[in-house]
Amino acid sequence: MNRTDFPILKETVHKRPLVYLDNAATSQKPQAVIDAIAEAYSHWNSNIHRGVHHLSQVATMKHEEARKAVADFIGAKSSDEIIFTKGTTDSLNALAFSFGEACIREGDEIIVSAVEHHSNIVPWQMLCERKKAVLRHIPLRDDQTLDIEAFKGLLGEKTKLVSVAHVSNVLGIINPVEEIVRIAHSHGVPVCIDGAQSVPHMPVDVQALDCDFLAFSGHKMYGPTGIGVLYGKREWLEQLPPHEGGGEMINHVRWTGTTYNDLPYKFEAGTPNFVGSYALHKAVEYMQSIGWEAIETHEREVTDYCEQQLAAIEGVHVYAAGQPKAGVISFNVFTNHQSPITNHPSLQGGNGGRLLLHPFDIGTLLDQQGVAVRTGHHCAEPLIDELGVPGTVRVSFGLYNDKSDVDAFIAALKKAIMMLS
Ligand code: PLP
Repeated sequence: MNRTDFPILKETVHKRPLVYLDNAATSQKPQAVIDAIAEAYSHWNSNIHRGVHHLSQVATMKHEEARKAVADFIGAKSSDEIIFTKGTTDSLNALAFSFGEACIREGDEIIVSAVEHHSNIVPWQMLCERKKAVLRHIPLRDDQTLDIEAFKGLLGEKTKLVSVAHVSNVLGIINPVEEIVRIAHSHGVPVCIDGAQSVPHMPVDVQALDCDFLAFSGHKMYGPTGIGVLYGKREWLEQLPPHEGGGEMINHVRWTGTTYNDLPYKFEAGTPNFVGSYALHKAVEYMQSIGWEAIETHEREVTDYCEQQLAAIEGVHVYAAGQPKAGVISFNVFTNHQSPITNHPSLQGGNGGRLLLHPFDIGTLLDQQGVAVRTGHHCAEPLIDELGVPGTVRVSFGLYNDKSDVDAFIAALKKAIMMLS
């Protein structure tokens, strides 16, 4: 992987070379993406779709080419099924509102899972409050994988939608979304996949998965902030109402009422982020130029290497240890002191009864050595509560990280543990 494509990786932090291991929060950008933003504003910035003039036509063409590239990237049948949003959160909120208006009545049920990011919990909670519906969740087994048997038991006549993360942003575990879709569909229930942590790391083909909706963010896949995607099967998008009103999403507006535009514009009220979509297109091209096989092999090697190195450190507890992970590892460090903070079963087997070194303290000491990690609840408080800890330390990898980053992180971690113990 060519690290020199990412100018920020040359930065120093606290006079140390930057070791960036916070990719699950946001990825760094290759020069091609940075250049695309400057190019758009320097050469063809102009509002799209409504202009007859040259610049507007160029901008429109770039936006629609980006839509087609994204459709191809995730294997959608048509670019009409690609709605540009601000990101995963925006996509899930749009779906919760639109699907909720059309399909949810009092007493209906929606199923998420125990590992969801708040973005795939709160919009559904808000919908359930509005409609007096019920939110259920698939529990975890002891090994921190989803309990698929329990999921089967949750599905019933009242279930109207299942919405699950493809990859947990805390545990890194890859959920069996293909199986979840198959089971839900056998009950006639549609499935939305939160692909925020999967689309940057593995090929996600919506037709192969047969999911009904997919949400993801540009900024986690080497693209810019402020652009994301909601994919929906045409047959669903056609029957769902728009979630926002304004320009672009209309066909005609009269005082007597409004008729709505065709797909995908029905769901894109207002001036879209056409510079963002263009830069996202460049990010997609960048990933394609490297290829999935190279990305997946490399990231698996680096992630596995890091997990092995972590497991070898006295007192480190890796969550979902040994499970295949997509570029994310969460852990805590326990010392031999008394007064256990937690007694949760997930911490047994060498760690139970030990004192937790606070993730925030570890994160701060790593930062002082130039290593960027994330600490805390990672916007997944229900999962963190279930783990029985105040938070975790999370390292997450992008395609530019390599074993030297892991070595620098492990050396910094050992130092931090020594200082805190
Ligand atoms: N879902 C998952 C699994 C995530 O990891 C994140 C962000 O970390 C989100 C949703 C929200 O993404 P965004 O903040 O880009 O909307």
